[in-house]
Amino acid sequence: MNIILLGPPGCGKGTQAKRLQDKFGLVQLSTGDMLRAAVKSGSEIGKKAKAIMDSGALVPDDVIIAMIDDRIGQQDCRNGAILDGFPRTVAQAEALDRMFAGKGLKLDRVIELVVDEAALVARITGRFSCKTCGAGYHDTFQRPKKDGVCDVCGGTEFIRRDDDKEETVKARLEAYRRQTAPILPYYKGKGLLSQVDGMAPIDEVTRQIEALVERR
Ligand code: AMP
Repeated sequence: MNIILLGPPGCGKGTQAKRLQDKFGLVQLSTGDMLRAAVKSGSEIGKKAKAIMDSGALVPDDVIIAMIDDRIGQQDCRNGAILDGFPRTVAQAEALDRMFAGKGLKLDRVIELVVDEAALVARITGRFSCKTCGAGYHDTFQRPKKDGVCDVCGGTEFIRRDDDKEETVKARLEAYRRQTAPILPYYKGKGLLSQVDGMAPIDEVTRQIEALVERR
């Protein structure tokens, strides 16, 4: 089973993808996480991607397509993947179709998390995560139970993404509007697109997505 989660930055794709991977035994493939890992490792891709990511623009299609092509063929993805943050342009969506056809894989469903754009800047600029285990938190909406201590692993160091600053968030939203939103009609035309209310409480969003996946 292969699923795409689509929606603007801050719509909750990453949070929901992590939950789905646990429930359905799928692998979360987040191109943003892969790029951040490349930046951290100091690889050539990472060096090139860093400045682009910090500006809020999109990394070139060929780099991203090669990254996913390599990853989706690996053993752990044989049960299926949840694509989170990919595709982000129509060219990437077309490349994914070719990739799946070439590997004998099928795209089962594309789920759009529909959110109110006005809420996104506040959602994103308040995010932080545990440096040790990656658990996600928010200054207003989801603080750790005990301040300064991760609920999941007890870690005490937290990090914020470099591109979660307000100016960069605005550029990322603009990139979504101009380059990513045109993917929606592409998948609608193929009869694969479903929508979920991304403004509902997190557990409710999960419930709606699970219902769609189970109905498949
Ligand atoms: P994300 O974690 O999905 O918000 O991605 C963070 C940043 O990584 C984006 O603002 C882009 O610069 C880059 N990025 C992630 N996925 C893609 C993609 N599919 N195509 C182009 N750039 C991407």
